[in-house]
Amino acid sequence: CGIVGYVGDRAALDVVVQGLRRMEYRGYDSAGVALVADGALVVRRRAGKLGNLVAALEEEPTPASTTGIGHTRWATHGAPNDRNAHPHTDERGRVAVVHNGIIENFARLRAELEARGRTLSSDTDTEVVAHLLAEALPVSGGDLAEAMRAVCLRLEGAFTLVATVADDPDVVVGARRNSPLVVGRGDGENFLASDVSAFIAHTREAVELGQDQVVELRREGIAVTHFDGTPAAVRSYHVDWDASA
Ligand code: GLU
Repeated sequence: CGIVGYVGDRAALDVVVQGLRRMEYRGYDSAGVALVADGALVVRRRAGKLGNLVAALEEEPTPASTTGIGHTRWATHGAPNDRNAHPHTDERGRVAVVHNGIIENFARLRAELEARGRTLSSDTDTEVVAHLLAEALPVSGGDLAEAMRAVCLRLEGAFTLVATVADDPDVVVGARRNSPLVVGRGDGENFLASDVSAFIAHTREAVELGQDQVVELRREGIAVTHFDGTPAAVRSYHVDWDASA
């Protein structure tokens, strides 16, 4: 129900958990984070309140990371348990993805993935996206934004998607169709969220992602494209409402 992404020079975990807290009022049944650290993804997720996730993070601390994504889930497909909580990853743990909305054609995509030998480990509509992204990336390296565009063209329904990849610690990618996603632009850091309240403590310069667009977020800037790969116009606006209200 809430999504946060961060790339910059702060502790990503703190920025992401803080952002999720700011969106708690929307309601949710589970929460999770994925961080990129030392060429690997670290994923923690728990059913229940954010406090459960925070307790799990204190019990088993994560390595230092400046790139991360987070999610609070309102289950539509699959029970609200740890296994169905986001982020979801491919079998190798190379790509992590969080999702708000519903992927209507997930059953067909899941059957295709299973026919190709993939093993899915949740009951969600979301998990197919992690496997499809991993398949769309070359064995090492590759362009996560390009993979996201290719995968989005295959999805039906409503989605805000945000993803990270183990081999690139400087990138978070987002995409949207019929579901909101906002970029927060900082100085040497950038934010992604389903709601500006998640990052307003850090920056008030925002960009609303348009329908069927992908954003590539790096420390030094953002690049926005349509699903077909053509560049999209980026219009920043200033968020001037009082965040404490
Ligand atoms: N449909 C997804 C799920 O059930 C995402 C739900 C949400 O928007 O939080 O896991």
